[in-house]
Amino acid sequence: MTFPNLDKPVQFLKGVGPVRAERLGRMGIATARDLLYYVPRRYDDASTVQPISALEVGMDATLVGRIRSKGIIPTRSGLRIFQAVLQDDTGMITCAWPGQPWLDRKLRKDDLLLVTGPVKFFHGRQIQPRDMTILSRAGTEGDHDPGVGTIFVSYPASEDLPQWVLRGLFEKNLDALLGYAGREDHLDGEERRSLGVLGLEEAMGALHRPRSLADVEPGRRRLAYDELFFLQLVQAMARYRETVARPSIKFERTNELIRPLHEALPFSLTDAQTRVLREIYDDMTSSRRMNRLLQGDVGSGKTIVALFSMLLAAEGGYQAALMVPTELLAEQHWRRLSELVKPLDVETVLLTGSLLTKERRAALAAIKSGAARIVIGTHALIQEGVEFDALGLVVVDEQQRFGVRQRMALSEEETAPDTLIMSATPIPRSLALAAYGDLDLSVLDELPPGRTPVHTRLEYPSKRDEIYAFIDRQIEEGRQAYVVYPLVEESEKLELLAATEEHRRLAEEVFPTRRVGLIHGQLDSDEKDEIMRDFLGGGVDILVATTVIEVGIDVANATVMLIEHPERFGLSQLHQLRGRVGRGVADSYCIIISPAKGDAGERLKIFRDTSDGFAIAQADLVIRGQGDLFGAQQHGRDLILRFADLSRDEDLLVAAQRRARDLVSGDPDLSAPAHSDIRRLLDGRYGEKLKLFSVG
Ligand code: ADP
Ligand code: MG
Repeated sequence: MTFPNLDKPVQFLKGVGPVRAERLGRMGIATARDLLYYVPRRYDDASTVQPISALEVGMDATLVGRIRSKGIIPTRSGLRIFQAVLQDDTGMITCAWPGQPWLDRKLRKDDLLLVTGPVKFFHGRQIQPRDMTILSRAGTEGDHDPGVGTIFVSYPASEDLPQWVLRGLFEKNLDALLGYAGREDHLDGEERRSLGVLGLEEAMGALHRPRSLADVEPGRRRLAYDELFFLQLVQAMARYRETVARPSIKFERTNELIRPLHEALPFSLTDAQTRVLREIYDDMTSSRRMNRLLQGDVGSGKTIVALFSMLLAAEGGYQAALMVPTELLAEQHWRRLSELVKPLDVETVLLTGSLLTKERRAALAAIKSGAARIVIGTHALIQEGVEFDALGLVVVDEQQRFGVRQRMALSEEETAPDTLIMSATPIPRSLALAAYGDLDLSVLDELPPGRTPVHTRLEYPSKRDEIYAFIDRQIEEGRQAYVVYPLVEESEKLELLAATEEHRRLAEEVFPTRRVGLIHGQLDSDEKDEIMRDFLGGGVDILVATTVIEVGIDVANATVMLIEHPERFGLSQLHQLRGRVGRGVADSYCIIISPAKGDAGERLKIFRDTSDGFAIAQADLVIRGQGDLFGAQQHGRDLILRFADLSRDEDLLVAAQRRARDLVSGDPDLSAPAHSDIRRLLDGRYGEKLKLFSVG
């Protein structure tokens, strides 16, 4: 089956000539299908529309009326006000748009308007619309008063394509478009029932021409499913290419190294660590390639998981590489892991950019000969001249700090190594499934026992002196502190000034006898490393920092973090910062200072009262919406979702992923005749997304 009708250029639709076709094209509407998917942005229920006679000063009103007269009123201050008198069956009222004289050209006498706004008193009742829609234009086709029970729909309109033109186009074409939609529904009745979604025709009807406001949500839900399904399909195809289609090493598990490590560890693994390791071992011992994302909150014990995985590679005679974003972190990991594997006789090598020539040469030789079984390093690992003998596993720590290409570089080795990507930024499961649908997901959702959460306090600025005194007492006890000025990117310069100035103030006025350091994003990585090293070595008592505090660094002796302007940041970011303290045995404190009241204050209370990173991320998703979170996660992957809402649609996402993966596992490029419809839809509607995932 093909879908010639919806693939038709818009020009073949009723009411569309060359000029309109061009204007529609500029809004991204090239085909009949594009028009069908151009759904309203707003719905108003006629039963909530108030009769003009009933409007009273102080009300927030929604009304429908025809323009009886209009004009521009100049004022003494030079402000030009556009005014129109609207009339319905019950009376008339003046609408005023201060400063929008151009509306005089846009609106005509007898246009039917839907307006919303406050009713004020100004020479009588007057409404100042917040929102206005031209429901119909006098003298054009379809110009009739809407009947009782109508839902007014408003499309995203433009100067070129005003509301009434779009409404007119749907008036003339919607029935035909809906009919075509019914024929390209890729879900059969049974599938729809089990997913709990409408048919495509019904869903589109509900969105463009709802009989009640309650119709809209089920319509959205169906389009959300489609959107998620095709996204997952693209990701499932990418996943197939990178894993199943690329046969990889089938590691032999001998337990020769894994068992002694278990015995040597001073603790036993958490249930979550055990479960995640089972997932990783299963991937590694199968012939399909592993491409797995491991998410876990700060301190959930990802490093040990990485180490066991690397030992599995080593048992089979392969090498494993762990790549981390900074030199300091590389050294820290290397020291810790070397210590742990000392009894096992596994050679562990460190490779960073600052090795001396002689050290570097020795490291490269060990990597090349295969003597180095575990290699830990920075970007230096993916630079020219690094040659592995048999690279079997790549682990990338703090993946959000690497670009996609850097992250994948080692996986391009001929051996087709398995890949484990670790992230310490918990994100809600729905977001992880959507953004990383091409990877398999493992989650460490449990912290090792015996941790005391960081004591978190939310204080008003008036408490600052007391807080400084508290910090001073901690330093007196031999502890160290961070003072964080989160950096907002757009105003980086200003913020930097603020942090620099605060550093001066703290160093000279508040803590004159303490050693106060400063670290920020404009320093190069050597300088940053040096400052962090100094702090780690105890040479600095208080570190003033913008958000760049090195990820993953353990300064166990730092027990206090003071965060200024926390209200400017996402809760997940705050949580990430808080993870820099509480890494030793002593009690730790995170103090956020904010004048915020109301909603912003409530949001900060969630942070104060929640120590679980995943719960915080979920709250962030609900409060800030998916746009922001996607922005932070996607690294250039264009995953803007129009219909799906990740805070509500997790069930659809899970179902979509399952169906997409099933489909692809039986027919990797969807070439079977039975899948030709889906393939066409994918290319037609989601071709752009396909391209995004075919690189890297
Ligand atoms: P992250 O997930 O933040 O990278 P790490 O791997 O650095 O966490 O682990 C944090 C600390 O917890 C380390 O000191 C580590 O040795 C310890 N740890 C890891 N797993 C366990 C466990 N199962 N029981 C007790 N301590 C553990
Ligand atoms: Mg870590």
